[in-house]
Amino acid sequence: MSDPIETPVSRRLASVKNIIIVLSGKGGVGKSSSSVQLALSLLSLSPSNRVGLLDLDITGPSLPRMVGLDIPEATVHQSSAGWVPVYVDNQKRLGVMSIGFLLKDRGDSVVWRGPKKDGMIRQFLSEVRWGELDYLVIDTPPGTSDEHISLLTHLHPLFSPTPTRPTIPSSILISTPQTTALNDTLKSLSFTKKLQLPVNGLVENMSGYVCPCCNEISYTFGNNGNTERIFRDQNHLEVLGKVPIDTVLVGLLDSVSKGEMNVDVERTQKGIEGEKSNG
Ligand code: ADP
Repeated sequence: MSDPIETPVSRRLASVKNIIIVLSGKGGVGKSSSSVQLALSLLSLSPSNRVGLLDLDITGPSLPRMVGLDIPEATVHQSSAGWVPVYVDNQKRLGVMSIGFLLKDRGDSVVWRGPKKDGMIRQFLSEVRWGELDYLVIDTPPGTSDEHISLLTHLHPLFSPTPTRPTIPSSILISTPQTTALNDTLKSLSFTKKLQLPVNGLVENMSGYVCPCCNEISYTFGNNGNTERIFRDQNHLEVLGKVPIDTVLVGLLDSVSKGEMNVDVERTQKGIEGEKSNG
């Protein structure tokens, strides 16, 4: 296979082994929460794994809050070699980049038209010094907007595999089981087909509610098998998993957002390893 044309983006991302783009048709379905959980899970696969989390929700960045970095000290440093991401842990295994870190006041709104967003996305892809990464998880805004088109345009040179980078960028879809969310997710799926972006599968979030008292599951949005019917049977897409509404998760994200707790990468890893060894 011939080498694709080199660009500042392809040069910068040459040290990233896998790129996973997280998509959803609708807002509020848990895409950003899932991106954070995906990044932590990938980190836990191996003690040597290094993961980057890139927030492309330019007008509504939420990753800094979700990883406990919505604090004034969390700022991006500019060096001659590029932007240094903000690290969640001391070992620098999980780095995060978001426009939220660049705002003077975290409460500021970003009201930008397409070309300015495109410039920011190009900078994020070409100027962040991730170093060697096993995975770069990219959280995108809901739907299929300017940000998605910019992202895939800039990533285009990476869609030709090379011997040093055999995997090409791929995606994961997040949806709740509600019919409106599933229908909107079909639009995201159609977008991936048009742009030839591989899809690893779909995660159904907020699948049901586990009662903290009796562990019984209530299917708040119905349990009619629509996700499997529409995505697995009709579109040959794997349903990767189902995540219930989890009051513990909400509590954790809330306490993180107040800066009371930081994501403990090492503890998360030990917890997951413990669960694995307990079968
Ligand atoms: P999106 O990125 O799709 O807009 P978010 O990840 O910001 O959605 O999630 C929206 C809200 O739902 C957040 O307050 C988040 O804490 C909550 N949430 C997401 N997934 C779950 C879940 N499985 N259980 C409980 N709350 C969740």
